Amino acid sequence: MNSKKPFWEKPLASLDAAEWEALCDGCGRCCLHKAEDADTGAYYATNVACRLLDLETARCTDYAHRKLQVPDCLQLAQGNVDEVRWLPSTCAYRLRAEGKTLFDWHYLISGDRESVHAAGQSIRGWTISEDEAGDITHHLIDREL
Ligand code: SF4
Ligand code: SF4
Repeated sequence: MNSKKPFWEKPLASLDAAEWEALCDGCGRCCLHKAEDADTGAYYATNVACRLLDLETARCTDYAHRKLQVPDCLQLAQGNVDEVRWLPSTCAYRLRAEGKTLFDWHYLISGDRESVHAAGQSIRGWTISEDEAGDITHHLIDREL
């Protein structure tokens, strides 16, 4: 019975590489910089995006070479989803790691890559590139990471 489920309803550990990549909702929110309080370890959200992020499409402009260009770029994998505390609660990997279903704006549910933007869940329309932002502590936002 389990095999008839679509891959986005199966356990993360059972996904192959293509399914793993396809699970991403394309929100781009994991590509925003976080400000960390050195004393408490707390993270604060900002609207400052990685310089490689396309602010219209919410896509990385050099995904294949991202680790070369941005060494601290997060690479989510089977073993680290639980450890990344700042992933947004809407992140498809976090949802599935917690046994939750995807939101109806996820393209795998809606069939439309624009749904994530239309639902206001992506970085489109309210973010700025780190190349233009200056001090990120001037860009703290009252929004979850
Ligand atoms: S937050 Fe999660 S779903 Fe959104 S772009 Fe990043 S990895 Fe993909
Ligand atoms: S290098 Fe690409 S995937 Fe990594 S944080 Fe920057 S835009 Fe996102």
